[in-house]
Amino acid sequence: MPQNSGYDQLYASGQNNYTGTSLEYDEMNFEDFFKNELDALKEAGNYRVFADLERRKGSFPKAVRHSEDGTREVTVWCSNDYLGMGQHTSTVEAMKEAIDRCGAGAGGTRNISGTNHYHVLLEQELADLHAKEAALLLTSGYVANWAALGTLGARLPDATIFSDALNHASMIEGMRHSRANKAIWKHNDVEDLARKLADADPDTAKIVAFESVYSMDGDIAPIAEICDVAEQYGAMTYLDEVHAVGMYGPRGAGIAEREGLMDRVTLIQGTLGKAYGVMGGYITGSANLIDFVRSFASGFIFSTALPPALAAGACASVRHLKNSDLERMRQRRNVRKVRERLDALGLPHMDNDSHIIPVMVGDPKKCKFISDLLLEQYGIYVQPINYPTVPKGTERLRITPSPMHSDEDIDNLVTALSELWSQCALARAVA
Ligand SMILES: *Cc1c(COP(=O)(O)O)cnc(C)c1O
Repeated sequence: MPQNSGYDQLYASGQNNYTGTSLEYDEMNFEDFFKNELDALKEAGNYRVFADLERRKGSFPKAVRHSEDGTREVTVWCSNDYLGMGQHTSTVEAMKEAIDRCGAGAGGTRNISGTNHYHVLLEQELADLHAKEAALLLTSGYVANWAALGTLGARLPDATIFSDALNHASMIEGMRHSRANKAIWKHNDVEDLARKLADADPDTAKIVAFESVYSMDGDIAPIAEICDVAEQYGAMTYLDEVHAVGMYGPRGAGIAEREGLMDRVTLIQGTLGKAYGVMGGYITGSANLIDFVRSFASGFIFSTALPPALAAGACASVRHLKNSDLERMRQRRNVRKVRERLDALGLPHMDNDSHIIPVMVGDPKKCKFISDLLLEQYGIYVQPINYPTVPKGTERLRITPSPMHSDEDIDNLVTALSELWSQCALARAVA
């Protein structure tokens, strides 16, 4: 079978000393292909290097970084465990207890022996959080968006999804997979959304998909106005509150809760992996909507349920943040404090109403350089954010203060940034 020989040789190369030279001209050299693609990525400055961290319970935001030079303690300034709930006693103890009670894995898909009582309790907790009739737990926020938008877009008759231009990759993949019509409206621009809705066939099913807090700019969607126009055109609303759950609203249900709008949004999606500090994704909505996704979404049906301990930990974390404002208040104080210190030093950061502080570098090489030096010389870890995650020329350091950062941590961060700003001859903002 000549068409298989390239594969065979490649396979054999795992055991033998395959040099890559014996393939015929018409056979694909997979190794060369992978390497060339990676080289191109490196050349463009888009190759991702992970910091090898060992989080230490009780020391957040400190972690131990492993590198070729050994280990070193670093202060993490870019975690999405926004409130440190991943190490909170209530979360950790709930997980330990569930492991002791139920063991490690769920043992199956939700349909075939994998539904654990902890999943059921968590779904009740999440439905209550968002004041919806029902909730459905999925393996991640990514899978939740992909499966829910994918299923709705594919199965609603002649559906068109009206998608904010800055929506997350998981929503984009869901829409793509659904093969529904797609209309992209300008980011947070309600007039553009209204125009696009007005242009659409009145008889088709319409879904308006957007986020509350956008993770890279930290800006917040005008949810009330979006619901107004969606209602005017009979569209359902799909809101990703991934960066807002746990963080906003009196019970931590997100921006829609804070603004008293939860009942106007058809479907609220969230994650248990960011402010709740564990892992998992979910959707909430009417009983029929949730049952529909439960019954038709391949990404839900054919995948092993989350370990019971994750559900137990997430449930404890959600419950804790429903009743405690302490973490949110302390976190907000630190956000304010970092912003003030950056302002005092003229270090430019994007102004927004959220907990995300994008410090603007505006150059991919300098952005990476500053991040590298912060880590190597100052023991401060902030991942650089470059194209294609953000537009070229808006390269940045995305800083996320937690309630656990001390005044000394803040002092070290802004002092280091200021020194590196001078070293890179970057412009300062005028106060
Ligand atoms: C992180 C993220 C997701 C995915 O959630 P995970 O639980 O991490 O898979 C979805 N939407 C947005 C806006 C995100 O930033």
